[in-house]
Amino acid sequence: MEAKLILTEQQVDSGFMSHFSQICRAEFGEEIYKKWFATLELFSDLNSEIILAAPSKFVRDWIIREFVETKILPQLLQKIRPSIKKVTAIYVAKPDLEQTPVPSPSAEKVLNLSKHDNVFAFGTELKRHYNFENFISAKYNKFAVSMARIAAGIDAQTNLFEDRIPLFIHGGVGMGKTHLAQAIAWQIKEFDKSKKLLYLSAEKFMYHFVQSIRSNDAMSFKEKMRSIDVLIVDDLQFIAGKETTQQEFMHCFNALVDANKQVVMVCDRRPSDLENVDEKLKSRIAGGMIVNFKNPDYTDRLAILKAKSRILGHEICENTMNFIAENVTGSVRDLEGILKKLIAEKIFAEREITIESAREALKSYANITKVKSTAELIQKTVADFYGITLADLTSRTRERKIARPRQIAMYLTKTHTGENLPKIGKIFGGKNHATVIHAVKLVKQMIETDKMMMQEVRSLEEKIKN
Ligand code: ADP
Ligand code: MG
Repeated sequence: MEAKLILTEQQVDSGFMSHFSQICRAEFGEEIYKKWFATLELFSDLNSEIILAAPSKFVRDWIIREFVETKILPQLLQKIRPSIKKVTAIYVAKPDLEQTPVPSPSAEKVLNLSKHDNVFAFGTELKRHYNFENFISAKYNKFAVSMARIAAGIDAQTNLFEDRIPLFIHGGVGMGKTHLAQAIAWQIKEFDKSKKLLYLSAEKFMYHFVQSIRSNDAMSFKEKMRSIDVLIVDDLQFIAGKETTQQEFMHCFNALVDANKQVVMVCDRRPSDLENVDEKLKSRIAGGMIVNFKNPDYTDRLAILKAKSRILGHEICENTMNFIAENVTGSVRDLEGILKKLIAEKIFAEREITIESAREALKSYANITKVKSTAELIQKTVADFYGITLADLTSRTRERKIARPRQIAMYLTKTHTGENLPKIGKIFGGKNHATVIHAVKLVKQMIETDKMMMQEVRSLEEKIKN
């Protein structure tokens, strides 16, 4: 059994910032840690780049001067994650970007709850902004959100179900599962503060269960668990291979469900894909409502970007959002990360948010996304502008309404990318380099002689740059 476990409380909450505090405490001592490092928050985690938010310019400058420029902090953070190449600190004025800029009255009420308003001190702390107000619902997560709203008591249980049904939410990393699960928790507490709610990670469940066995107090753990009204367990996949914990979880689950209490589970995979988990437990879980967070498609990603930039209080032009939605095809966390990076650059380096700066920022994401080349962007912009398709641009059609835009796109590719003529010919469906030369010359001439043409080309160039 897993009683040999030697996890500490901090390790159980395994987020980046808890590692960060542990390692800074050990390295710099409690006093320095408290004075400086404890005031920092994680602004954005871009995998190879960490951006810390400082509460004042003074703290930011001090951290940069003493710890970033001296390479002390980057080297230290590489111990947490070797892929970290860059560390920056920015000053985030209050209200900071982690908060909703204008809290709605109900958000206010939620904020009045203590940070961990779980029944037991051992519940995992809820994040203030992981509420329904900040959760964007789009096509890809609509069903999960509807079921979460029922579990939270916002929408009535339809007469499809008589009793409360356990809810099982699964989906990939960074898709918003934890956010939604915590939103359920906040909402339930907001409706009725006296509700005994426990939100915790499966890791914490195991930790406290094992602790209770060690201290010969397993009975009181069991009793406590059975006395709650709502149980929300995050990252359930963690119990794989831990038999005793699974058994205890199953007893607890059965007792709560039988008493018509709400149980919500969050997992990175569907129940049937949980390896080393007891079949009985899996089938009990499968008897509940299983919802899947699918990956957001292009229109979902655009909807998320629009809503997020509004929440973060910064407008971003349509073209740049289209560009990000097209290129960041991973998780919502990735979309959020890139947005925060661009906003940080805007605030901190006064750099406007454009397609170019987005392309630049995306380089930190080389492992998760493929940035489309400028050539592709040009083709898409030209095709959209003239109402033709990408296939038209690479076709052999000589029809003027297609050939002309194609020549313009070739001209723009020649003038705005470093590509050579044969390569451009290839990009346009295997055309000869002479065709490209002809197109470039023709468009140049037309720009000089035809005012309309000049305006069209200029406005296309504007679009590409933005
Ligand atoms: P998961 O638990 O699925 O790995 P999280 O809930 O931790 O993902 O979400 C990752 C980040 O993306 C969080 O900052 C969260 O607020 C944000 N996020 C994910 N989905 C949404 C959404 N639909 N609306 C708003 N923010 C979201
Ligand atoms: Mg999560």
